[in-house]
Amino acid sequence: MSDNCEFIDQCPIFRYFNRVAQLLYRKAYCQNEYESCARHIRYVADQPVPDYLMPQGHHLWSEDAPPAPTQSPGA
Ligand code: SF4
Repeated sequence: MSDNCEFIDQCPIFRYFNRVAQLLYRKAYCQNEYESCARHIRYVADQPVPDYLMPQGHHLWSEDAPPAPTQSPGA
């Protein structure tokens, strides 16, 4: 078994996290228990993996109400 999830370089979930949350999720799932990650399970089953699906299986936002686009500071 590899140390890291094989999808770590392409998984889009981290773009929605701040730096602290990125580190926590990477430690908890991507570099450790990735076989229990809901996203990983769907990737290896060749099922769609929506951006809003969290590693623990929760939804980051409702499929019917996606988040508003973020603005960069100073925009
Ligand atoms: S969130 Fe899940 S699928 Fe994405 S890189 Fe981490 S362990 Fe892999």
